[in-house]
Amino acid sequence: MIDENTLLSNRAGQIDASGIRRAFQLGARLKDPINLSIGQPNFPVPDEIKDAAIEAIRSNANGYTLTGGHDHLRNLIKSFLAEDVCWPADDEGIDAIVTSGTSGALVLAAWALLDPGDELIIPNPNFVVYPALGAMTGATIVDCDTYPDFRMTAERVAPLITERTKAVIVNSPGNPTGVVLSEQEMAELVQLCEDRGIMLISDEIYDLFTYSAARDQRRRCPSAACHSRNVLLIRGYGKNYGCTGWRLGFAAGPTWLINEMMKFQQYSFVCAPSMAQHGIAAAHEVDMSKWIDAYERKRDMVVELLSPVTHLEVPQGAFYAFPEVPSHLGMTGTQFCESMLDHNVIMIPGGVFSDRDTHFRISYATDDDRLEAGLKAVATAMS
Ligand code: PMP
Repeated sequence: MIDENTLLSNRAGQIDASGIRRAFQLGARLKDPINLSIGQPNFPVPDEIKDAAIEAIRSNANGYTLTGGHDHLRNLIKSFLAEDVCWPADDEGIDAIVTSGTSGALVLAAWALLDPGDELIIPNPNFVVYPALGAMTGATIVDCDTYPDFRMTAERVAPLITERTKAVIVNSPGNPTGVVLSEQEMAELVQLCEDRGIMLISDEIYDLFTYSAARDQRRRCPSAACHSRNVLLIRGYGKNYGCTGWRLGFAAGPTWLINEMMKFQQYSFVCAPSMAQHGIAAAHEVDMSKWIDAYERKRDMVVELLSPVTHLEVPQGAFYAFPEVPSHLGMTGTQFCESMLDHNVIMIPGGVFSDRDTHFRISYATDDDRLEAGLKAVATAMS
C-alpha cells in the first residue's frame, strides 16, 4: 500500500506554500477582479526580444546550451556588469552563470553554500522562496526583522551573526515592500559580511525598477556589487522585460562559487531555456525607460491615494507597496484582504511574507484605470 506520509520527505513537510496558494484560490472565484496581487509587469515583451527568440527557434538553436549559458549572452552579461557595477570583464576571479530564472540562481547558491545546521539570514518580510531555501538544504533560517521601515541594515544584521552563519540574503529593491537601500547602507552591509567572512547574496531582480529618488544615473540601482567582488549578485530578466515565463536570470560572483553552482546546474536544471537565452541577448540593446517611468507614476498614484489613510513606507523601487492595515479596523492583513474580495479587489496579506500579518502587498503592475479603481476602494475601506 502506498502511504504518502511514509514516502514524503520531512523536507517537503517543512515548506508551507499554503498562504500564497490560498490568496490565489480566493481570487479565482471572482469574475473580472481588480487584481493587485500579480508579481509580474503588465507590459509586453519588446518586439526585438520576441523576434530574436523566434529566430533562434527557426534556426534550430533548440538544443542544450553550455551549462553556464551560451557564450554570447555570458559575455554580454560581463560587459553589462563592467558598466553597471564596475566589475572588470577580464577579471578571472569573477564569473557569471545564466540560470533558470532568478529562483534558479537562488537555489544553486543555496546548494553550493549551505549544509544542515548552517544559518542563513534573510529579511522579514521576504520573498517567499527565501525561507524554503532552509528546507531545501537543512540550513536554519534566521529572520532579520526589518519592521517598520523595511531596511535591512548592517546594524540589524550584525547581532544575528553567529559562528554558524554562512550567508545573508539582501533584496533591494525589495519584494514585498518596494524599499531600496541607499549606497551607504549597502556599503555597510557588504563591509559587515566581508569582515565576518560571510557570503552576501544580493537579490537585485528589480534593478531596473529603481525610481528617480533612489537612482544614480550611472547605474540601475544601489548594488552590493559596487562595493566588493566578494558578493554573489543575482539579477533576472523576467521582470525587467516582461518575460517571467521564459525563466531567465543570472548570478555573478567569485569564480570559486560560480564553479560550484555550475556543477549543481549541470545535474539539475542543465541549462537555462535555450531559445530564451538567444532572445534575451537582444534585451541588452533595448531601452525600457518609458515603461519604468510609467511605473514610477503608478507608484506615485499609490502613495497619493493611500498615504492619507494609512502608514506606508514610500516605495522607491520594484512594483509593490506594503501598507499597514490601520489599527482602528481591528483586522489582520488576511482579514482585510478577504474583506476586499467583496469589493472585487485581490491583494496579498502580509502574513504570506512574514510571521506578522499586519500589512498587505499591493502590486501596481496593472493598467492605470484599474489601479485607480482598486486603490480608491482600498482607501474607502480604510477610512
Ligand atoms: N527574487 C525576488 C525578490 C522576487 O520577487 C522573485 C519573483 N517574484 C524572484 C526572485 C524570482 O524570480 P524568477 O521568476 O526570475 O525566478
